[in-house]
Amino acid sequence: MTSVGNPMPQVSQNELQAMAYSDPLTGLGNRYRLRDKVRMLATERAQDPAPFTICIANLDGFKPINDLFGAEAGDEILCQVAHRLKACIPDGATVTRHDGDEFAFILPLVFERNGAERIGQMMKDVLSAPYDLGDRNVRLSASFGFAIYPFAGEEYEELLKSAETALYRSKRRGRGQITVYSSEIAQEMKRATQLEQALRTAVIADAVDAHFQPIVRLSDGAVLGFEALARWIDADLGFVSPSVFVPLAEERGFIDALSETLLRKSAEAALSWPRDLFLSFNLSSAQLMDPSTADTILSILSRVGLDPRRLELEITETAVMTCADTAYRIITDLQAKGVRISLDDFGTGQSSLGRLRDFTFDKVKIDRAFVSQITTDRASEHIVKAIIAMCDGLDLQVVAEGIEDHADAEKLKSLGCRMGQGYYYGRPADSLATLKYLENHYRHSSPFRRPPTMADLPGFIPRGPEIA
Ligand code: C2E
Ligand code: MG
Ligand code: MG
Repeated sequence: MTSVGNPMPQVSQNELQAMAYSDPLTGLGNRYRLRDKVRMLATERAQDPAPFTICIANLDGFKPINDLFGAEAGDEILCQVAHRLKACIPDGATVTRHDGDEFAFILPLVFERNGAERIGQMMKDVLSAPYDLGDRNVRLSASFGFAIYPFAGEEYEELLKSAETALYRSKRRGRGQITVYSSEIAQEMKRATQLEQALRTAVIADAVDAHFQPIVRLSDGAVLGFEALARWIDADLGFVSPSVFVPLAEERGFIDALSETLLRKSAEAALSWPRDLFLSFNLSSAQLMDPSTADTILSILSRVGLDPRRLELEITETAVMTCADTAYRIITDLQAKGVRISLDDFGTGQSSLGRLRDFTFDKVKIDRAFVSQITTDRASEHIVKAIIAMCDGLDLQVVAEGIEDHADAEKLKSLGCRMGQGYYYGRPADSLATLKYLENHYRHSSPFRRPPTMADLPGFIPRGPEIA
């Protein structure tokens, strides 16, 4: 329908076509260019069954840089990244900007894993040189996910999904990682999906339970509170550890449903404990990124009837780092209602002592990794000693996790640690067993709270001589 007498529509259509296939910021092709190129290559290779590779690269920690230096500096970095990638990719390869800080590559002459890893390493090195922003230099790393046609997928969508899965695994392993999609990864994904289905069903059927592990005063072993720990036994899969299913629920987007059930059950159980005992509940990183978390928690407490002052929330350093602003708001809102915040697994995350200054935590839990070696490893002993001294100075309470024997407990006491938790004092147990534990171990002389009165013991009939 093009006419010689009226060339304008033809030109603008070409322009439109070009625009639809390119990224205005960097001038690279966009995700439609990627899709079409991959489809073309796959059609060619269907006759000549030689593999080819696609890759997705994602910049590590780009968002904080964007937030810190501004969007203009962010754009400048993205343009420099595009420029470097275009200059370094092998002949015949294509680079596109896939999305935000994500770039994609088609590598027609990369046929197998080693070749993919070599190119990944080279691109990683190229991207790690400093970026010049005029008055300052910025450094970045990138993570990579590769997928090889046809093993990782014969259709574009499937191939891309495999590359995304590989990238996701790289991200989970930390910064600057390179992953090539493989049959093991495919197997693992399949297992994870089966687990996800079973877990979703368990959450709906209310089959995930909360168990409770005592947190004690080290001087005399008196119980001060309990940490709620999620427990799930599947009919087919058997016992599944929360360190497996909690991250899975986070990844697959239903941690909220799981956590709400667990908090409700834990709070209900805590109602039958003496009122001076606290309930310590783990929050996952995804919840610290969701602005509605504080309201959700407070409304569960109010429905159950548990005083927010009896709740402590355990969060990790990594969770706080992921989305510091939202985390800060959630923490502040909850603290305003009397909820206390513990920093869990202290010393193992991407520790930043600055966090202890910027955030007002109430308690620090020293990770088991240090405690378990405290009597045999001088370095662990010194680290624990330093954490205790620092927390004393900052007016933070300290709990040592993972105390397994008498020697650990004595050592911690001698270092000035006042609270502890671990198999030596009690394993996690269900709510009934927890009530039995209380009958034997509860003393009302916690130095951290006012002593309870008999009115503080709803539904709890103490038998120990200390209370009678
Ligand atoms: P965590 O919060 O650091 O919990 C302490 C873990 O150490 C628990 O493992 C507990 O059973 C274990 N533990 C306690 N004392 C000892 C000891 O003396 N020796 C040894 N070897 N281990 C001890 P568990 O129950 O398997 O939980 C693992 C992790 O899963 C927890 O680590 C927490 O990060 C997460 N988790 C558990 N329940 C929940 C939950 O309801 N919500 C969320 N978001 N995470 C949870
Ligand atoms: Mg914990
Ligand atoms: Mg912990």
